[in-house]
Amino acid sequence: MELNIALLKGDGIGPEIVDSAVAVLEKTAAKFGHKFSFTPYLIGGCAIDETGIPLPQETVDGCLASDSVLLGAVGGPKWDDQPGNNRPEKALLGIRSALGLFTNLRPAKLYPALRAASPLKDEIVGKGFDIMIVRELTGGIYFGDRGYRNGKYGQEAYDTEAYSVTEIERIGRVAFGTAMKRSKRVCSIDKANVLESSRLWRKTMHRLAEEYPEVEYSDMFVDNAAMQLVRDPKQFDVIVTSNMFGDILSDESSQITGSIGMLASASLGETSRGMYEPIHGSAPDIAGQNKANPIATILSGAMMLRYSFGLSAEADAIENAVDKVLDAGHRTADLMGSSEGTPLTCTEMTEKIIEVL
Ligand code: NAD
Repeated sequence: MELNIALLKGDGIGPEIVDSAVAVLEKTAAKFGHKFSFTPYLIGGCAIDETGIPLPQETVDGCLASDSVLLGAVGGPKWDDQPGNNRPEKALLGIRSALGLFTNLRPAKLYPALRAASPLKDEIVGKGFDIMIVRELTGGIYFGDRGYRNGKYGQEAYDTEAYSVTEIERIGRVAFGTAMKRSKRVCSIDKANVLESSRLWRKTMHRLAEEYPEVEYSDMFVDNAAMQLVRDPKQFDVIVTSNMFGDILSDESSQITGSIGMLASASLGETSRGMYEPIHGSAPDIAGQNKANPIATILSGAMMLRYSFGLSAEADAIENAVDKVLDAGHRTADLMGSSEGTPLTCTEMTEKIIEVL
């Protein structure tokens, strides 16, 4: 397969971790007989420095012309005094909307080798857990009608949660399709005991569930889900939920894995082109020091191969290499205590993964 991948390295540790992921993708391409070409574009603070704006048109055009997009991270103290609409982070919303990405896939996996990093007790975590959160990304309260008006107690601010059947079906199909490739369980999370939009959400999900008889379907209220995630995370496989509930629950589920430097994500739309990125930020405190953990970005590359290009064996190979390197005890600084010896650098960790590949 010949593929053109747009690289948005961004700021802080962005360039280091994207270079690591590219090295792993190049090794994978060589091993499986593919040809991947990579074209870098500016985004975030570095784009402001060069062009005055965080998302130049050339970047949008380059991503639209690519087969898929790999992003590092944007932002840092240097650009903190930029006006709201010119901040580096604004570029993320801009590029997601330009690429029509309405789904966010966020795996939260606790690796057995990293069990000590989880804040949860051993008896809760067991042999680890592997959850996939499917979050609706372009609808709901973050995009609904908002403003100020006169209310019962004087001036008040309001935001509106609205979902159409089309939007719910679209995200629901992604969730059921994802579950079919995993252990075939979907839990839809809503607040149907209170919200009208959640009642439509639930009704639509139930109808969809009938189309996927092989998938074991359940519903849960969001307040219960927040508790269940820390009480018994192993009960979940695929979680599907709205934009705001997904925002909150995906952060909770990444926290219970204990290792922010390990977690990848994918944003997907109607086409096979997606945007893949680690869930962490640009880590300005360790930027340029070769200390960053590249695994979240390397696993984002694996997700790209799986979800955009259907290259499952190639994605498995990368994921297995990461497992083996962790099982062998190799750690970057973020994955170990200060008394546990010398950590690997970003480049050393990348080399270990490439060696196993
Ligand atoms: P952060 O995720 O960058 O860092 C939080 C902590 O985790 C820091 O101590 C950092 O050193 C550590 N960390 C993060 N990734 C790591 C990795 N791969 N390896 C080792 N350690 C890692 O969050 P923050 O400090 O709140 O934000 C820093 C900047 O990143 C801000 O400008 C913020 O707006 C931006 N940000 C960008 C994105 C994105 O680009 N998607 C996401 C979140 C934050």
